Amino acid sequence: MNSKVNTENGVSPKRKKLQKIGVFTSGGDAPGMNAAIRAVTRAALSHGLQVVGIRHGYQGMIEGQFISLHSSDVSGIINQGGTILKTARSKDFLTSEGREKAYLNLKKHDVDALVVIGGDGSFTGALVFSQEYDIPMVGIPGTIDNDMFGTDYTIGYDTALNTVVEAVDKIKDTASSHGRIFFIEVMGREAGLLALNSGIAVGAEVILIPESKEQHEELKKFLAKGYKTKETSGIVIVAEGDEMGGAIKIAQTVTEEHPDLDVRVSILGHIQRGGSPTAKDRVAATRMGVAAVDALLDDQKSIMIGLKNEKTVHVPFSKAVKLHHSIDEDLIEIQRVINI
Ligand code: ATP
Repeated sequence: MNSKVNTENGVSPKRKKLQKIGVFTSGGDAPGMNAAIRAVTRAALSHGLQVVGIRHGYQGMIEGQFISLHSSDVSGIINQGGTILKTARSKDFLTSEGREKAYLNLKKHDVDALVVIGGDGSFTGALVFSQEYDIPMVGIPGTIDNDMFGTDYTIGYDTALNTVVEAVDKIKDTASSHGRIFFIEVMGREAGLLALNSGIAVGAEVILIPESKEQHEELKKFLAKGYKTKETSGIVIVAEGDEMGGAIKIAQTVTEEHPDLDVRVSILGHIQRGGSPTAKDRVAATRMGVAAVDALLDDQKSIMIGLKNEKTVHVPFSKAVKLHHSIDEDLIEIQRVINI
């Protein structure tokens, strides 16, 4: 893999086969998606390719929302959250009629290959589509959950993590001033990595995640310890997919069992998806964007670009969507050791 513009007269030797690529964002948005769009666009242009942006993900592909992207169109977006191409969830793309319309639009606009920036749902769609139609597709993982198999990192995770830490630090001040226990819900329906790492970073007393039940015991211990020491302030981070329910439900149960405790709930919600991406997200997005174009030029298809040990790697969509990035048990152990 090599991102050098290996050209004679400024034209990449592999360009003849591939002339125009499409790029789009799909599923949940994540900070750093714009940096990825910029990198894909600039890398493709530097190889002499034309670039088309498809607005509103697969739905826009079906509806023909195609726009030409030039270098200036992606100027000044590396620091912007969200996605300039907009994103969407498309029910129509789940149907073969919808996918046929999408394919016909790609042909109409002479798009030879696609880069999809999104999560596992978007890659499942890409896999289905590329099995039906001869359109090479390469994915860039953009999701704040960091739960994709085959990559150490997904775009948006670091920004979301820092957003959570900043918000919880503020809540912690008021929690300790009033002697309150705050149950703070962070995003993660199936993945607790954001909760686990943010909990460690803020010094949370307990972290409840879908991957581990042991933490429920930790919550009981924490509440019991609070009674003994009369130290009743604290932070409990709850991943929204925790087995006991979200933060509201858990706080209700705790209040019923311990009516004398001053329990509060804070659901961080969509602030976790927004904001200017961190340097780490911008750099990861840029590396993956360049690698995605390289992969297409190397005739790769149906793969996701990942980052493993600081190197870009290719992961087949079939693996990326079936398997899950498991939680690092060491982190759970670290939390247990620290919380004496
Ligand atoms: P996030 O992780 O933030 O949820 P995602 O990429 O997983 O992002 P999804 O909503 O799961 O988001 O998927 C995005 C889109 O991909 C769906 O709206 C749908 O259009 C398409 N898609 C998902 N699964 C399939 C499938 N089996 N067949 C065709 N298209 C699919």
